[in-house]
Amino acid sequence: MKGICILGATGSIGVSTLDVVARHTDRYRVVALTANRQVERLAAQCQQYRPDYAVMADADAAERLATILHDTAPETRVLSGVAGLCEVVALENVDAVMAAIVGAAGLAPTIAAARAGKRILLANKEALVMSGNLFMAEVRATGAELLPIDSEHNAIFQCMPTDFARGLAAVGVTRILLTASGGPFRDMSLERMQGVTPDEACAHPNWSMGRKISVDSATMMNKGLEVIEAAWLFNTDHEHIEVVLHPQSIIHSLVRYVDGSVLAQMGNPDMRTPIAHALAWPERIDAGVAPLDLIAVSRLDFQKPDLARFPCLRLAFEAAKVGGSASTVLNAANEVAVEYFLSGKIAFTSIAPVIEQVLSNIPATELVTLEKVMETDMIAREEARQVIEMHHRKVV
Ligand code: NDP
Ligand code: MG
Repeated sequence: MKGICILGATGSIGVSTLDVVARHTDRYRVVALTANRQVERLAAQCQQYRPDYAVMADADAAERLATILHDTAPETRVLSGVAGLCEVVALENVDAVMAAIVGAAGLAPTIAAARAGKRILLANKEALVMSGNLFMAEVRATGAELLPIDSEHNAIFQCMPTDFARGLAAVGVTRILLTASGGPFRDMSLERMQGVTPDEACAHPNWSMGRKISVDSATMMNKGLEVIEAAWLFNTDHEHIEVVLHPQSIIHSLVRYVDGSVLAQMGNPDMRTPIAHALAWPERIDAGVAPLDLIAVSRLDFQKPDLARFPCLRLAFEAAKVGGSASTVLNAANEVAVEYFLSGKIAFTSIAPVIEQVLSNIPATELVTLEKVMETDMIAREEARQVIEMHHRKVV
């Protein structure tokens, strides 16, 4: 039996993970579940899966959860805060940690899982974008196993030779081709994008996801973050990564080899496939996903992404080129801008200009400690708020 801890259990990835785990109760046992504020949802999960621990990041929410579980799942201990999150990932009976908290909030517990040498199923791409060098160093130091959940990275992992850590050139890989659906506004003009609402931005044509990543997909910042994520995971740089628009989301990414071969991983767009892959690796288990019907799909299209209509993708490539703290700043400014957009305070088309301004206001430095990463994240967030208040806030 493998013990599983799910960070962000109440989210889209968390729920899909529980769905896969529930299909294999002979293999997996839920040891800990965590959330931020959704008390009722976490309480229901605890009543169903009976974990040893439940953690709410929010202290008041933790108190409310403890009251509910006192009568309904008394064996589950309730903890709170970042300390609670970092404690449960390191429990002795936890073998694998699903890192599925959204945004920078996931960094500390995900690093704690690396320090504890666990198998990390990494969905929280922001952690890697913020602090790739430090995160990868922790993973190498403890021998933690890092398995990508992001569908593209999971696809790349499946198409790579097992010894890719030796360096891509050494294993005959010349390029990573990262596919992108293009999101809900793939063919929309910039003028029309100006007035789109949060709900329109969150209505992804192929995937059902949390609201933050849905907006990232609509701006294509998600693909930008994924370029940086891929560079860290596969020990390469942005020059060896190409983004290819593929509207059907059937090919999840490809790897090109020096002999002309190109390997692709395909499947229906359902996150339970990468989750099941990473949980069971190197074995394969049923994910509950319908078999791919190629006749029904009938065609696969590919296009070049348009950097003029999707400036966030350009900004991410630029930040990847600069290196150091640039991607930490990019990520922080993006999180703030997306939050403002989701609460109706800035236009969709203001997201990229805010990030661009913050990147140009904060000079890039090397990030040698985690404290420095957190400080840079805080400074960039404050800068983003100021840039928004001065230039982009909607007048209501
Ligand atoms: P959701 O918004 O659906 O879920 C986020 C989860 O994180 C919830 O459990 C939430 O708790 C918890 N959370 C939010 N803020 C905090 C905080 N400050 N402290 C602790 N926990 C917090 O997001 P998704 O599941 O869509 O995405 C999760 C991660 O996976 C993201 O990094 C995303 O980029 C990545 N990812 C997601 C994909 C998808 O298909 N959804 C695909 C590829 C990557 P609560 O419910 O209480 O708010
Ligand atoms: Mg992805």
